[in-house]
Amino acid sequence: MITLRHAHYTYRDFSLAMDFTIAQGACVAILGPSGAGKSTLLNVIAGFEQLADGALMLAGKDTTNAPPAERPVSMVFQDNNTFPHLDAWTNVALGISPSLDIEAADKRTIDAALARVGLTELATRKPGEMSGGERQRIALARVLVRNRPVLLLDEPFAALGPGLRVRMLDLVKELHAEKGLTTLMVTHAPEDAKRIADEVIFISEGQARPPVPTPKFFLALHDPQVKAYLGSDDE
Ligand code: ADP
Ligand code: MG
Repeated sequence: MITLRHAHYTYRDFSLAMDFTIAQGACVAILGPSGAGKSTLLNVIAGFEQLADGALMLAGKDTTNAPPAERPVSMVFQDNNTFPHLDAWTNVALGISPSLDIEAADKRTIDAALARVGLTELATRKPGEMSGGERQRIALARVLVRNRPVLLLDEPFAALGPGLRVRMLDLVKELHAEKGLTTLMVTHAPEDAKRIADEVIFISEGQARPPVPTPKFFLALHDPQVKAYLGSDDE
């Protein structure tokens, strides 16, 4: 469970208000115009950005001031999830131990994670010898070995073509269900939300709104901010 209580983030003249709870095991899409604060919300939860006031609770614990490494969170970005000089296997191993202090049981965990995302054959390849989709599979395998209950994804598949993007979204949904992960995914594509998200958090005009069921969000066209977002081509 993720709770943001009377939380505010500010940076110069940008501010973002957050006051809601996300249920454990939910799959939530974060939607909103460019620059609205979608990445900021994930960064606040991950601990890369600090709240100016209010509180963040993760799994019932006050995490407002906890350093990122101590939070029960994994994050996947659009790019730069992998280290180019290390092969796929070692990139995944970093999820268990940043110093690559790997025991026999860990090796089996890493092999199983690579198999789960379909990368067994490519385990000894370096990211530069792999496609964009394969590199994001490395990132998802690392999520599996980290075994943290909250998964944050910031436009993870925006650089991929439509067919591959759909397959990767379905893989996220499967991992979400298998592991019971609380999953928050930023996307600029409303159809991504329709495909995998149970709920939508909409961010606009300095406010992250509480999650609403996905079908309900897409019917909210009487709402001027939602209408402006869904009807616009600015993203
Ligand atoms: P989105 O992901 O919705 O496109 P962001 O969360 O990346 O939006 O950014 C929201 C706004 O906050 C932008 O105007 C961004 O420039 C600004 N911003 C927030 N935090 C910082 C920061 N630490 N450094 C620079 N700009 C920031
Ligand atoms: Mg962003």
